Amino acid sequence: MNEFEAGRPVVLRGGTVLPMDGRRVLTRTDVLVTGDRIAAVGPELEVPEGAAEIDASGGIVMPGMIDTHRHMWQTVMRGYGADWTLTQYFVWYYLEHGKLFRPEDVHAGNTLAAIEALDAGVTTVVDWSHGLRTPDHADAAADALQAVPGRYVLAYGNIQQPPAEWTAAPEFRDFVRRRVTGDDLLGFQIAFDVTGDPSFPERPAFEVARELGATVTTHAGVWGATSDDGIRLMYDHGFMTPGTIYVHAASLSADSYHRIAATGGSISVSTESEQSAGQGYPPTWAIRAHGIPVSLSMDTSVWWSGDLFSAMRTTLGADRSREHLEAHAKGETVTHCALRADQVVDWATRGGARAIGRDDLGTIEPGKKADLVLIKNDASPVSFPLLNPFGHVAFQAQRGDVHTVLVNGRVVKHEHRLLGVDLAAVRAQADSTIEYLKGAMGEEAWEKGMNPDIPSAKVLDNPYTYTDYRSDATHRL
Ligand SMILES: [Zn+2]
Repeated sequence: MNEFEAGRPVVLRGGTVLPMDGRRVLTRTDVLVTGDRIAAVGPELEVPEGAAEIDASGGIVMPGMIDTHRHMWQTVMRGYGADWTLTQYFVWYYLEHGKLFRPEDVHAGNTLAAIEALDAGVTTVVDWSHGLRTPDHADAAADALQAVPGRYVLAYGNIQQPPAEWTAAPEFRDFVRRRVTGDDLLGFQIAFDVTGDPSFPERPAFEVARELGATVTTHAGVWGATSDDGIRLMYDHGFMTPGTIYVHAASLSADSYHRIAATGGSISVSTESEQSAGQGYPPTWAIRAHGIPVSLSMDTSVWWSGDLFSAMRTTLGADRSREHLEAHAKGETVTHCALRADQVVDWATRGGARAIGRDDLGTIEPGKKADLVLIKNDASPVSFPLLNPFGHVAFQAQRGDVHTVLVNGRVVKHEHRLLGVDLAAVRAQADSTIEYLKGAMGEEAWEKGMNPDIPSAKVLDNPYTYTDYRSDATHRL
């Protein structure tokens, strides 16, 4: 029997609680969950009879993390593109092989990504689902998300057609009618990019989004793909609206940041992605001056992890690294860090909730939805001393330390184990997709796709070398 059967209240006892209403830390504090809500937060709470007790002592209780941009269908190719650039990614998915994905392959990727997110304490993910080239693909994506007890937002997209075309298709309208039903655990957005073509061919897609009342999420400021031109077109035509999510925004001018700030949008920063794919420098250091709300995202597990601990860590690192370099270029020294650990924890929780327009998520307070994470690992030497809980989350903790996860009041992970997940079945589904893709591409193309050519590099001549020991050594090899 599941000790956390539906409807049973749950209390997390004696943890260090991060309510995420500023820098407040509550030690030895209980969090009581009844139904789908947080009922009470405080020391030694009286709880309803029969409540399940979870010992949170020595651990950190924080809101479930929220990822505002992840191409979940691509998780089925986990790690395949580790050495890609953005160009290689575009060639692989957009031009050459993205069309190979069948509905069951989208299902396999979404299922695996959805489970992985829960395991890592990511209770809400915006599935930036741009592989939906038929309604069957879209149904498969939604089916997968609804079969896993996390909170997801299906951001509907299709890289194989211009957005004006697929958003005008009757099948798309039909999908929205059938599947966008106000389910609290499955939200809906529309996902497409704005190329900057002066004729603004994306206009009809924006009009459809407006008519449906759907938020638009768009890759903006991606070097070589989207630029200030797209932002200007959106602005001039009145489509930069509150709630719009600008993904990356890594190679935009101050003028574009002003437009985003003035119109109430937010930026989804994918630092791991921006650092190695080439969209531009992770922009938090630049957008700080514009007061634009930030959320964090992982982009795609075809390269990177699906883990917001690494998002927090790399974002802090990239931001501080840039601050130091900018100062050094002026002969100055940074003596105080501008970006603090609690800020990235905020972006990973409340920032995500704000970005997707859910003010009932992202903080721990009575009345909010009970999406919670307990970070606790008594077997780990990294679990103590617990001195600076925000620093601990940002730099010390990792997904293996995620002890318990609740979504909508339901315990979905406990004592480091996902509940009710048949991982063997998920693995079989992923295996079958990989076998199919390899077969369809051919072994050689598959291997070549995973192992791009390495640019030639030469070790510099060294003026301090007065013997030729290195060439001698080379000759002996
Ligand atoms: Zn992306």
